[in-house]
Amino acid sequence: MLPLKEKDKAIVGKLLASGCCARCVLRFCCIGVPDAYRHGRRETLRQLRAFAEENHNCQNVGQLEPARKRSRLESEEAADEDEGEGVCVVCLGVLQHLSDASQAVQIADAVKKEKYEVDTLVLSISLPAQVCVRERSCWLPPCHFDQRSPRLARAKCGALGRRDVVQVKEAFKWIVQGPLARELGAVAVAAKSPLEVSVCFAHPETDADCHFLASTCPDCFKVSKNKQSAFTRMAVAKALEKIPDDKFLERSPRPPSRPSSGCAPPEVRCVHASVLAAFGARGFNFSSSGREDVDVRTLGNGRPFALELLNPRKSQLSPESMKNVQQVINASSEKVRVRDLQMVGRDAASRMKEGEEEKTKSYRALVWTQKSIREDDVAFVNRIEDLRVDQKTPLRVLHRRALAVRQRLVHSMSADLLDEHHFRLGLRTQAGTYIKEFVHGDFGRTKPNLCQLLDTHADILELDVESVDVDWPPALPD
Ligand SMILES: [Zn+2]
Repeated sequence: MLPLKEKDKAIVGKLLASGCCARCVLRFCCIGVPDAYRHGRRETLRQLRAFAEENHNCQNVGQLEPARKRSRLESEEAADEDEGEGVCVVCLGVLQHLSDASQAVQIADAVKKEKYEVDTLVLSISLPAQVCVRERSCWLPPCHFDQRSPRLARAKCGALGRRDVVQVKEAFKWIVQGPLARELGAVAVAAKSPLEVSVCFAHPETDADCHFLASTCPDCFKVSKNKQSAFTRMAVAKALEKIPDDKFLERSPRPPSRPSSGCAPPEVRCVHASVLAAFGARGFNFSSSGREDVDVRTLGNGRPFALELLNPRKSQLSPESMKNVQQVINASSEKVRVRDLQMVGRDAASRMKEGEEEKTKSYRALVWTQKSIREDDVAFVNRIEDLRVDQKTPLRVLHRRALAVRQRLVHSMSADLLDEHHFRLGLRTQAGTYIKEFVHGDFGRTKPNLCQLLDTHADILELDVESVDVDWPPALPD
């Protein structure tokens, strides 16, 4: 028996008539029992139809009946085993034919091919962004169908608590993870693991579902260099948060249109933390020699860091294998590079930390000035050496660092004029100097600062770390 309540009856009928699959109906009824999704979907559909049919006294039944009859006819014509259940208008087939046992076999095959030595994996699901749009038009209808008194209707059908609706991803995992783990033998599907198996669904046929949101909420859709489309799931979800119900209903069909085909079989990719997989470790602690704001790149030779592996199954790795791991990491992303990857003892990590305060760091910044800069300003900046700077804890970090005045040394500076109002500033400073504050002054909390020195307003537009001058770890031969 399905764990449905009397109040769900109206919703079940409406959703089935709207073209939702059996499992999406369960999701919208906020059924949080994983087992309910693991039953055969045809059997679940039969049960849901029977449940909705008991609803004869309800005024909605008149609207429901023709849709049911129609779908029964279709199924006879198509001689489809699915009993008239076409492609679901919300999940676009993901919770229908794409979450069958055969799908688990395919995902398992993709994982087996990689030959990882792991005992867990984490399953991550990526869905077409339009699923959010379609979901929104479905969690509205059952309550809003009755336009004469939406509030009453909402109360009568138990109001779909949007936050309680079970996510497609969640339901998919509930269905697939058991068969997947069985296929893979000793590998368990976990919440955290060095191996991430990403299952990515796409449905080009309905991609345009999201497009109307760009005109109602243009600031949510900024095209970025790294994204193929501005209509990412995040952007669409943000726009859906902002758009009021009535505006949404004007622009989006309700119920959503029936697609002619479901999502294609998903693309399965294995992403694993190379170091963890190589050592068969369960996790890690990361520490580094200092840190930077998220918008600051670390270039040059990079920043020394150490990983402490938790519960590794191997305690040693040959230099060649270590080099392999380094290559895998470097090949996996354009944004991160590692070098001199090697095994070190616990004492080495503390040595790395000790150097944190004494070391020097080199930066390169792009600086804007209000007044036009002349060659003699440049010469003046270039002459400055070992400038002692008092920095009161910057406003931007005051919430996590105690209020204090710290004295730091700016060893040297070099300015490179770009135009009258912009120059590149090279700095060598004692570690721990707040560079952004040294440039703009932080409302006089850093003294002296570049504004004072040049007698103008100045701001920092870009900042890169050129080098962290610590002689650690030992360089390895290439
Ligand atoms: Zn569905």
